[in-house]
Amino acid sequence: MALAPMFLSCSTAQVDSITFEPLILKAGNLAKVRGNVNAFTNKGGTVGVFETKEGFIIIDSQFSDSIQPVLEAISTKGKPVLYLCNTHHHGDHTSGNIAFKDLTNKIVAHQRVPELQRKAAEKSNKLNEQLYANILFEKEYKINLGNEKITGYHFGNGHTFGDVVYHFENDNVVHVGDLMFINMIPVYRTSDGADSFNWIKVLGKIQEKFDDDTLFIFGHANKPELTVGNKSNLKEMSEFLAASNDFMMKAIRESKSNEQLLTENAFIPGFENRTTKERFPDYLKGLRETLAGKYE
Ligand SMILES: [Zn+2]
Repeated sequence: MALAPMFLSCSTAQVDSITFEPLILKAGNLAKVRGNVNAFTNKGGTVGVFETKEGFIIIDSQFSDSIQPVLEAISTKGKPVLYLCNTHHHGDHTSGNIAFKDLTNKIVAHQRVPELQRKAAEKSNKLNEQLYANILFEKEYKINLGNEKITGYHFGNGHTFGDVVYHFENDNVVHVGDLMFINMIPVYRTSDGADSFNWIKVLGKIQEKFDDDTLFIFGHANKPELTVGNKSNLKEMSEFLAASNDFMMKAIRESKSNEQLLTENAFIPGFENRTTKERFPDYLKGLRETLAGKYE
């Protein structure tokens, strides 16, 4: 008789800690982050792949060709895609949504994402290649799957108007999308909602919300193995954005044009690790727009 409760508590503990067999992919790079959360890099933004007993939750979709290895690997497990979640509207995170059209009818994103995605698709003449999120939210959205909980949070605009981070609560992993670029100049367009001041605030809120054990999946890094990190990386990104603001404010005070800045600098002083050369002119252009709007 004494064995029954022991058996029960033991089996409950096992259910909580099930880790599934790793997915085998034909292309791209899939790495386990923790528990049942994986990060996939191929072309475009890092994809989060989360497996539960009932099915998969995918964060972002890259492009319809580069996401294929993930879809093929998933199909061998015979489980459905429960949700596709987008971190923001940019094409290297949402162009692959269309590849999920027969796999799930639950696509989650911030409420601004479909409108921004549509506008960008119109510009690039790709309107008929889009699949838009249909579960939209403003501040917070919870996905409850029995033991597993995934929460999406919008902490304001940093990289775009529709930035969302997704927290896999059991494994304590957060996909932060393009709020994080490692060793790169970030993509920065004020018309999309990029705002270097607000971006610092958003990174501050993320650091407050999550703990020192939390692992973060980043939208972009210069090497696949750097797409996962911790709070120290978020701090470095905040410091980079603050240094960028100081750099541009000084240039505005000294009446220096971006052309002058580009001949004198190949990176933001102190951040020579971030040297995406072809992106630097647009970054300076965007920073100037943000600062001019705020301080002129
Ligand atoms: Zn982006």
